[in-house]
Amino acid sequence: MKIIEDISEMQRYAAQLRQNGKVVGFVPTMGALHQGHLSLMECARRESDHVVVSLFVNPAQFGPKEDYNKYPRDLKGDIEKVAAIGVDTLFTPTASQIYPEGYRTYIEVEGLSDILCGKIRPGHFRGVATVVLKLFNIVRPHKAFFGQKDFQQTVVIKKMAEDLNTDVTVIVFPTVREPDGLAMSSRNQYLSREERISAAILYRSLLEARLLFEKGEHSEDKLRDAITTTFMSEPSSQLEYVAIVNGNTLQEETDVQKGTVITIAARIGKTRLIDNIIL
Ligand code: AMP
Repeated sequence: MKIIEDISEMQRYAAQLRQNGKVVGFVPTMGALHQGHLSLMECARRESDHVVVSLFVNPAQFGPKEDYNKYPRDLKGDIEKVAAIGVDTLFTPTASQIYPEGYRTYIEVEGLSDILCGKIRPGHFRGVATVVLKLFNIVRPHKAFFGQKDFQQTVVIKKMAEDLNTDVTVIVFPTVREPDGLAMSSRNQYLSREERISAAILYRSLLEARLLFEKGEHSEDKLRDAITTTFMSEPSSQLEYVAIVNGNTLQEETDVQKGTVITIAARIGKTRLIDNIIL
């Protein structure tokens, strides 16, 4: 596996891969890799000739009071994991290379980046869209793979990729879960033993809403109430929001149908977790 730190070197190598007719698949990550990330890479492996993975904890997507400094980092462990999957190239730029002194350009996806999680984390999706476009420009992939776990992120990135004529096909891979249903996340490491058990409430509440929907309940209010009530049974949890939305526009859907997305954010102790389900 080739490890590249330098942006210019990555660009030269990407140009060479394209010239040689390789289909390049790209998986951007912030590291602290778990099976959710690795499944995305396995998918990229199946669907491309050459797989590039980036490891970059992107400062632009963290708010001033968020966990940028304490975000888990494990470069050595990550290198071993991606090598075992058969990733071809690992790209590990530094923050000062991506955002050099005097950096000024940011991408705003209007109407999608300032709602739901974007309302609670102002600037988050601006940082995400910006770094993803920069990485697309550096790695020049044909396909890029993202997890459904971060549902709003997939909608923001698809729109950005389309609006800015990137010519990258965005592929969304289903959420990989722990045996009790908790969506795998690098931030699950923050949970204490008790909190880890409580955290299963996120997926449990979504499954309850899905069951109601399958029994014929199509009222947004009733599904929302079911989730809120489930959360009340778990004192260490605090539901931040429930949104029942159209999967392309993220607009609230009053007539809930197959394909409607229920997305939630909650705090378990101090840790903020998100999850979603497509009905
Ligand atoms: P992150 O390192 O958290 O930025 O995640 C990198 C990529 O992995 C993003 O596209 C995430 O949506 C995806 N991802 C994170 N957790 C999971 C999971 N549990 N299942 C599938 N994909 C995931």
